[in-house]
Amino acid sequence: MESEPRFIVDNMLGTVARWLRILGYDTVYDDKAEDWMILRRAQIESRIIITRDRGLHNKALKNGLRSILLWEEDMAERLAHIGLIAGIRLSVDLERTRCPLDNTRLVKVSDKREVKDKVPPRVYELHEDFWKCTVCGKVYWIGRHWRLIEKILDEARRKLEQYRARTSIK
Ligand SMILES: [Zn+2]
Repeated sequence: MESEPRFIVDNMLGTVARWLRILGYDTVYDDKAEDWMILRRAQIESRIIITRDRGLHNKALKNGLRSILLWEEDMAERLAHIGLIAGIRLSVDLERTRCPLDNTRLVKVSDKREVKDKVPPRVYELHEDFWKCTVCGKVYWIGRHWRLIEKILDEARRKLEQYRARTSIK
């Protein structure tokens, strides 16, 4: 799993960082990071830069770093673009999912009673499986928002197929 791509995301793309973490990718995001900090960290930790800033993108390439310039607004298109270049999985595997807030790998809760006072009563009743972040303590479950995540990923996979068809030059 160590050979999986790791990312560092510029400060305009916080939502992209959260998505990459949900998909299980180690992603650094600091909304106060300046360009030089991003470049330096990308180099030291071999991370792929994801940015909307053409200047930063060009600097990265000039320094021999990997960088993806995201110009899309649509999240499915953004994910497909990252998928095309970095080969990320466009599906959620909860064994790998990281906390969207702090990038820590989630841990499955072995006894649901442990989260009883941390989730709404109805959620507690309806669900058997919970995951938690050992750093911020936030609890996650496959709730209603899940459908939206799946919908966007479906769309992203479709777009990726289109992109691949378009870029395959034989
Ligand atoms: Zn957390």
